[in-house]
This record gives sequence, C-alpha cells and structure tokens, in this order.
Amino acid sequence: MSAIYLNGERVPRERAVISVYDHGFLYGDGVFEGLRFYSGRVFKLREHLERLEESARHIHLVIPGTLETLANDVEATVLASGMSDGYVRLIVTRGVGNLGLDPRSCPVPQVIIIADGISLYPVEMYEKGMEIVTASTIRNHPNALNPRIKSLNYLNNILAKLEAIQAGVPEAIMLNHMGEVAECTADNIFVVEKGRLRTPPRNAGILAGITRATVLDLARASGIETLEETLTRHDVYTSDEMFLTGTGAEIIPVTKVDGRPIGNGLPGPVTRSLRGKYHDLVRNAGNS
Ligand code: PMP
Repeated sequence: MSAIYLNGERVPRERAVISVYDHGFLYGDGVFEGLRFYSGRVFKLREHLERLEESARHIHLVIPGTLETLANDVEATVLASGMSDGYVRLIVTRGVGNLGLDPRSCPVPQVIIIADGISLYPVEMYEKGMEIVTASTIRNHPNALNPRIKSLNYLNNILAKLEAIQAGVPEAIMLNHMGEVAECTADNIFVVEKGRLRTPPRNAGILAGITRATVLDLARASGIETLEETLTRHDVYTSDEMFLTGTGAEIIPVTKVDGRPIGNGLPGPVTRSLRGKYHDLVRNAGNS
C-alpha cells in the first residue's frame, strides 16, 4: 500500500495531484528528500529534515510549519501506508503562481509526502558488484546550482544517467568542474586504498549524503582510517575497493569502472564489513 499527505492532510492516490501552475512543476523550483523506513521507523529523520531545511534556505523558500510538525506528518504517512519497510519522498515546492519565474507570485509552498515501496538494485549486484562508467556530463558548477541543494531540478544527474544507460551500465561517475571525482547520479562515492577509506569532501560539488555520513561514522567506530579528500579518476582506477552509498541503494559495491577492474574485480572485505554494519544499524534503529 502507499499513503500520501498533501499539505498536512491525507489524500487518496487519485486526488494526490498538483496544479500545472506549481513552480515546482514549471521550473523545478522546490526541494526534496528521499528517506527510508525500516520496521516502521524512519531512519535518520532528523538529518533529512535538517538537510531539507538547508536546501530550502538556500533557495529562499520558507517551509510551512515547524520541523516537528513535518516530522509528525512524515511518521503519520508511514503509519498510514501500513508498510513496515519502504521509502518516503518528501517534497516542498514553491507552490502555485503565475507563468513567470518570480517566486513572489507563489504565496503558499506545497508540502507533499509519499510513503511507498522502494525498487532496489538486483540482489546479485550487491553480491557481485556493479560496473559503472565516467560520464562526460560534469556535475553542476557550485556557482551555478550548488549540488548541496537537493532541488527538484535533477536534469544534470539525468543527463549523466542517460550516458550510463547508453553504455549499458546502471550508474555513472560525475566529475566536478575541476575534473575531480564528485559523485554518481544519486549516490556518493567511496574507495578503499591500503585499508583507508576515502571519499570526496563535501565541497567537491556533491550532495552531502546522509548515508555517506553514516558510513564515515561506522568506519571510524570500527577503527578504519577515513579521509575526506579530493579523488581523481587515477585514485578510482588504482583503488582496492569501491562502493556507492545512498538512502535507496544503501551500500553497493563497484567492481569495474570504465572497463578497469577495481582491486581483484570482486567486492572487497572493507565493503562487505561496512555493509554488514550498516544493515545492523538500520535494523536496530528500526527496533529501538
Ligand atoms: N548524491 C545525490 C546526487 C543524491 O541524489 C543522493 C540521494 N539519492 C545521494 C548523493 C545520496 O544521499 P543520501 O545518502 O542522503 O541518500
């Protein structure tokens, strides 16, 4: 089952519609979050709401109500869905306005919450690893549209995703405007090099992933050295292990990049161990 809340009220699926004059639809003017719930509990709800608020502040959008009411509405949507495990899409659009960019014509932002099932990568990809390529489309320049904003405008990522599809693989690495490794189209990137875990810093033109932060915490807690530093394609090609992180994907191993096998071409021990720890954490967070 699914459940949908529109501006604080539960609505049936067929009435869950927005105006063609909503600037979220007309211009991608809005922000969103993708959350997971496990055993009925939303994982890292507070962190997602804070990131949503940061995105909103950047685009000068005031989210109606408080973060507490929003948290309650997210939890109510999850409960109403009747599902134990699933995905939440939380969207705040600029709202209904005129045909014209000026956000001042949109007095009331719209808050949309959808709790539904999640489509995951196939199980064998988690066991054997994923092959990916580097896209020629670079991540948005931070002075144009900062990737720290999780905005409704995902065309930059979609263009890179299309390149992945053209190449017959599920994902693509996006470089930043400096030619450094940034992130994949909807996941952050990690490599393991001589037992150390490396990931691009938050100012590398990436979304500051919540799974990324969780994985860094898990690694530090288990005594793995972590480095948030610039990565180049050379670092990727010569790494011992590689994996991607995201709310939807969780932790997924990458075993081939641009035709080059990573390490021995199989998911490595650090990736496997962190995957185990991540699974334990989300399960425990669900039971607490
Ligand atoms: N980068 C991008 C561009 C994303 O859209 C996402 C979320 N799907 C991520 C990274 C991963 O972020 P999180 O771990 O918070 O889901």
